[in-house]
Amino acid sequence: MQRNYIANAPVLSSSGLTIAVIDPSDGQVFDHLQRSHAGDIDDAVRAARQCMNAVWSKLSAAERGRLLMRLSAKVAEHVDELAAIEQRDCGKPTRQARADALALVRYFEFYAGACDKLHGETLPYLDGYSVLTWREPHGVTGHIIPWNYPMQIFGRSVGGALAAGNVCVVKPAEDACLSLLRVAQLAAEVGFPAGAINIVTGYGHEVGDALARHPGIDHISFTGSTGVGTLIQQVAAERHCPVTLELGGKSPQIVFADADLDAAIPSVINAIVQNAGQTCSAGSRLLVDQAIYEPLLARLGDAFAKLRVGPAAMDLEVGPLIRQSQLQRVWDFLSDAQVADIPMVAQGYIVDEAPETGFYQVPTLLRDVPVAHRLAQEEVFGPVLAAMSFRDEDHAVELANATRFGLVAGVWTRDGARQLRMARRVKSGQVFVNNYGAGGGVELPFGGVRSSGHGREKGFEALYGFTTLKTVAIHHG
Ligand code: NAD
Repeated sequence: MQRNYIANAPVLSSSGLTIAVIDPSDGQVFDHLQRSHAGDIDDAVRAARQCMNAVWSKLSAAERGRLLMRLSAKVAEHVDELAAIEQRDCGKPTRQARADALALVRYFEFYAGACDKLHGETLPYLDGYSVLTWREPHGVTGHIIPWNYPMQIFGRSVGGALAAGNVCVVKPAEDACLSLLRVAQLAAEVGFPAGAINIVTGYGHEVGDALARHPGIDHISFTGSTGVGTLIQQVAAERHCPVTLELGGKSPQIVFADADLDAAIPSVINAIVQNAGQTCSAGSRLLVDQAIYEPLLARLGDAFAKLRVGPAAMDLEVGPLIRQSQLQRVWDFLSDAQVADIPMVAQGYIVDEAPETGFYQVPTLLRDVPVAHRLAQEEVFGPVLAAMSFRDEDHAVELANATRFGLVAGVWTRDGARQLRMARRVKSGQVFVNNYGAGGGVELPFGGVRSSGHGREKGFEALYGFTTLKTVAIHHG
């Protein structure tokens, strides 16, 4: 039985209720979580505030950095353990689970080094005045985390907030809490003061909502779906609480006729099958120059047909989806495709070893998807790639920008001038040219435009969002 983690202690929720934890690879219950309620959020916020006032605000930036570096090293020692936890909890193939744990190591390392590099400025002003700016932490930050990459999103969000001098109350997704509860214990072991990192588990509409509404929360970092992001922003607006929203996407991979297809093809496939397509930045739309549409689809079709889906521990190309309702969501999209006569190019296959009770979905490549169809407009959050062709560069831009999202775009071309033109014209928080998120990008600011959200996390830029700027003007004559 898992407990909340408040003020460096595992605690039961006073609700007395629990949530079953299910292994997506076999659909079986193997643990239980606290189904917390608003009272538990109160406790966590109180512990955080106490920590802020008594301890955290008195540490120097260098001391905060040392703590974060110790946590990075501690997580590094526990990569295998954390990956195994994540694998069972979220159905991640071994390589992905390890990559997530290693990303967490890197986030804490990056933010450890950043703590004492964040500073204000002095500004030229009137004669007899000195003006300076200070970057001050918000105070107690609330972090609402999705289930698709719990460790990575915890690292970038909580890592950045702590580095900037905040203390944190975290609400992980009800499907993905176990690794974060363990990381909070590791933080206590390396010397984080009680109340710096608090974790309260439960349902979004219960504790997530209570966290977003809590008057003791000074800033909210929300990563999740666009619909819930709207609710969070509405709730936060009532008390003028600043919000960072990292939401969904329908990101295009745009392949021109002069692209290096040997480089593009594996990247296009990985961008839609990584984490079974349950990735905010999944490259879920494939826009292809009509001159190479048929040969590219033929090559991709051959590759899709070889993609294996199976239990996370088998470490195949694709693991299970997170839960039954997510599987149902993907089936609904695919049945809509059938009704609309959208042609299917190829599908992968589920291996014989996969238990029938697991949540398995074969990767699916669809072609000629009409731009107005929901498969070209909405986030499926499964391994479904929607391909369509474009006539020329203007048409490619028009299709790329034809959704309400703007998270990531991939551009594949050897033409340097076109690379820059496309990077400028595509409406997106990130544009990757001749790669798609290579290297993990801990150092690179990340976030969306339009319905993909606003604010930036990752990189040094995140620290500006996790602080507020105070201007001090002194008249000394
Ligand atoms: P979700 O919006 O359903 O849930 C996200 C979190 O919000 C969970 O912890 C959930 O419990 C909580 N929540 C749900 N309802 C709430 C409410 N009324 N009030 C407060 N909290 C509430 O999203 P999900 O299904 O967990 O995650 C998938 C989504 O996250 C996708 O849309 C994906 O694109 C997005 N995502 C975005 C990024 C990014 O960086 N832009 C990264 C990862 C995931």
